Amino acid sequence: MYDAMVVGAGLSGLVMAERLCNQLGWRCLLIDRREHLGGNCYDAPDRNGVLTHLYGPHYFRTNTPELVNYLSRFTAWHRTRYTVRSFTGGRYWSFPINLKTFEQLVGRESSQEEFRRWLDERRQPIVEPQNSEEVMLASVGAEFYEKFFKGYTKKQWNKEPRHLHPSVCGRIPIRTTREDGYFDDSFQAMPQEGYTAMFNRMVDSCEANLEVRLGLDFRQAKEAFKYRHLFYTGPIDEYFQACYGRLEYRSLRFEVDSHSAQSLARQGKSGFWQPYLQVNYPNSQQYTRIVEIKHATRQNTPHTNVVREYPQDYNHANEPYYPVPTHRNLALYKEYAALASREKEVTFLGRLATYAYLNMDQAVAQALLAFETKFLAHPQKRAPRLA
Ligand code: FAD
Ligand code: UDP
Repeated sequence: MYDAMVVGAGLSGLVMAERLCNQLGWRCLLIDRREHLGGNCYDAPDRNGVLTHLYGPHYFRTNTPELVNYLSRFTAWHRTRYTVRSFTGGRYWSFPINLKTFEQLVGRESSQEEFRRWLDERRQPIVEPQNSEEVMLASVGAEFYEKFFKGYTKKQWNKEPRHLHPSVCGRIPIRTTREDGYFDDSFQAMPQEGYTAMFNRMVDSCEANLEVRLGLDFRQAKEAFKYRHLFYTGPIDEYFQACYGRLEYRSLRFEVDSHSAQSLARQGKSGFWQPYLQVNYPNSQQYTRIVEIKHATRQNTPHTNVVREYPQDYNHANEPYYPVPTHRNLALYKEYAALASREKEVTFLGRLATYAYLNMDQAVAQALLAFETKFLAHPQKRAPRLA
């Protein structure tokens, strides 16, 4: 008998399990159907020892010092800057769109004033953008939208941008300054020894209060174990046996290309394979981006690797990486959320169970908030300490 079973050893499940065990002294079982901790944030060395983000690049960033303080119990950090370029028309463009991108377009130095005027002439007067096409037409106009967003978004989601919520493309900043980092957040850093090392420390800190079972699906675990409360971070429609129909998810195939120092030398390269951390391919190639994570981890090694991301449909044999924010899916999710609110001894958390495009800091914040409001603030909710 456990106080709680936590389904999903991704960031959301790990944070919740750590808090329950360490702050409330609950005895918890943490399970995952994958064979490792960390969900999509999992990282591991490749055959040359290069730390690899196996489920796409994970760039930690936040504006909330409390989240950094919390995670800092389990890791040291190194500050970094996430530098992205977009490759289209045979050249690298400064990205996200900023004054340097405009200067590349006009082929000379320019000014914020000139770029603002240029944008003002092209922005379409859409007061409340209803979808991802409108949000870009309203913020940068058709030329930049078509160059950088339209093709990438269709490839990534297999949907027209006008069928996706405005927040999808709207999450990319547009700047009239020369600032060309990918994010605006005040804290941009990576765990010094990687995410998996941080997750191992979270688990170790719980000592005997936490039992971890990997390679175990909820369907088997719910028959095999008894628990008072359930924390569920898997797909919400799956929890309810898709009783209202299936929610859509988008999947990806990751192709890892490892390069030893020798193979780099044969290609006339040294240390790195590409000049930037991430290169986006909006209008050519079947992949959306190539990431060379060593630019951000700053690992001291002569070897490297790059990971190409090929978008694909979710088919239950691959992983559901992204909720797909269309009107249909968001309306369907609300029906599942109403069902979920009636499950008094179940807490739904994370990107899949709350069907939200959460970044890592948002996933941590959501789990901490649920812990503090539902469990810490209401001592009667605490299960008695089990022998
Ligand atoms: P997940 O990591 O998906 O964990 C859920 C876990 O539940 C999984 O391990 C799954 O195997 C398990 N599970 C599901 N169903 C069951 C079941 N029935 N039984 C047992 N186990 C189950 N965020 C950033 O802040 N910066 C980034 O740069 C960034 N890049 C990203 C790139 C990609 C390609 C993706 C997909 C996401 C990215 N994110 C990024 C988001 C980040 O991955 C999430 O915020 C974070 O992983 C959320 O954690 P989670 O625990 O909610 O979900
Ligand atoms: N996007 C785009 N062109 C780009 C980068 C992003 O059209 O060069 C759009 C695309 O729809 C993508 C979304 O903006 O899915 C969010 O991009 P982000 O880089 O944040 O994607 P994530 O890392 O979450 O996959």
